Amino acid sequence: MDASLGSSAPGFETLAIHAGQEPDAATGAVVPPIYQVSTYAQDGVGGLRGGYEYSRSANPTRDALQECLAALEDPSGAAAGTTRGLAFASGLAAEDTLVRTVCAPGSHVVIPDDAYGGTYRLFDRVARPWGVDYTPARLTDVAAVRAAIEPGRTRMVWIETPTNPLLRVADIAALAAVAHEAGAILVVDNTFASPYLQQPLLLGADVVVHSTTKYLGGHSDVVGGALVCNDPELGEQLAYHQNAMGAVAGPFDAWLTLRGIKTLAVRMDRHCANARAVTDLLVDHDRVSEVFYPGLAGHDGHDVAVKQMRDFGGMVSFRVVGGQDAAVAVCDRARLFTLGESLGGVESLIEHPGRMTHASAAGSPLEVPDDLVRLSVGIEHLDDLVGDLAQALG
Ligand SMILES: *Cc1c(COP(=O)(O)O)cnc(C)c1O
Repeated sequence: MDASLGSSAPGFETLAIHAGQEPDAATGAVVPPIYQVSTYAQDGVGGLRGGYEYSRSANPTRDALQECLAALEDPSGAAAGTTRGLAFASGLAAEDTLVRTVCAPGSHVVIPDDAYGGTYRLFDRVARPWGVDYTPARLTDVAAVRAAIEPGRTRMVWIETPTNPLLRVADIAALAAVAHEAGAILVVDNTFASPYLQQPLLLGADVVVHSTTKYLGGHSDVVGGALVCNDPELGEQLAYHQNAMGAVAGPFDAWLTLRGIKTLAVRMDRHCANARAVTDLLVDHDRVSEVFYPGLAGHDGHDVAVKQMRDFGGMVSFRVVGGQDAAVAVCDRARLFTLGESLGGVESLIEHPGRMTHASAAGSPLEVPDDLVRLSVGIEHLDDLVGDLAQALG
């Protein structure tokens, strides 16, 4: 961060635009250039000019993104150099690197009983055959999470909050204490909230995971992932594995993600406002049997969300009267809400989790209701969004 910004800690919006992004030393370019390069000339063997030797190990555009991510999740830890960000080719690449750094064959992890389907698939089909087993637990029930831990063997308690797709809210501070009591770390997938709405490291978590594909990138034009860690020793091991396993973010992807992050705060404010208005339509609708949104006073995670989040986010799920066929028909009738997977972009999306994003969880403890519809509420004009949903519901 530029010292000229003054001694008091810069605000979130300022960090989003400037952290890790000094004007380019060589040219004065105000945004970090895309260093689309694999290798760097050396002045004599080992004589590195700018500290760079090969772009899997380090690249200036990726470094800018990594510093920015660390500052957004933990401003003072990033300034002190103890919190570090690492950017990966995708959210799942980040998750895989974390699992293989913290766990070994014989380890155990606690995972959510509602989670991104790909995260479940990683634990079930990749980590488990490697020798790491897991227990799914209801994250809203602290005692259930404690009971799922196997002392001595559990290395990680892995949570998502709010969860995908049921928007359950886990108490980060309480679960950090439970994990730490048992000698495990708490990992928080912060994709749904983004660091603008929630900063898990400041609540006691050890590692934050992101699919930067979603709100951080924000424009549905790049796939990426990140880890942010405030333990210097674990951060060092993760960085070692980032290079040794090699699932890094490319320079252009890092640049697109940085560009998206600059407007994260203003986008999130509008995502939240639009989502709130959409829930107003849904809760009163006779074709809707249940609405999941942490901003609703009747949602069971509402009080915890108020305590640990700035606002309630842009994701809304609901159950449609009439079962799976009726839910699929709502998805098919929507026009402005584009039928598609993913979330967190400026454009609104609608999907049927049971047959789309969460199809890989069918038959597992993470199976989702078949009458569920999930919305990623975008930042189009509110009247257009509400009008489209009203017509799609029929
Ligand atoms: C999309 C997503 C992931 C996976 O990220 P990719 O970038 O698709 O690999 C992980 N967690 C959550 C909550 C997600 O929504």
